[in-house]
Amino acid sequence: MSECLFCRIVAGEIPADVVRETDDTVAFRDIDPKAPVHVLVVPRAHHADAGSVAAADPALAGRLLAAAAAVAEQEGLTDGGYRIVLNTGTGAGQTVFHVHAHVLGGRPLLWPPG
Ligand code: 5GP
Ligand code: ZN
Repeated sequence: MSECLFCRIVAGEIPADVVRETDDTVAFRDIDPKAPVHVLVVPRAHHADAGSVAAADPALAGRLLAAAAAVAEQEGLTDGGYRIVLNTGTGAGQTVFHVHAHVLGGRPLLWPPG
């Protein structure tokens, strides 16, 4: 059994509120949402972070981005705007080391982020 939290969610070993699936990505609602819409999009394959997946499988990194945009559209965020965030490294707030795109929207989003 994997020790990676998001590998376990992908495998269905830990329940999640899944909103979209493709052959190689899964999107599910964040357990501690920071906006009215807060969805995490992960590749089914384990890669630690954005840099790792971009280096190992750039086509998959592209499909992850496309999946994030599709979630935003599905969640009705296209008109109001949304943010796709890939925290990379502990100094940037990454806490789960299976790459995940946060899709955030449904309220005004300040810039720069904290
Ligand atoms: P990071 O801080 O690594 O960029 O984002 C990790 C995210 O995973 C956080 O927003 C956190 O709320 C979310 N998270 C942590 N554990 C779980 C869980 O068990 N289920 C879900 N759905 N989200 C989780
Ligand atoms: Zn993993």
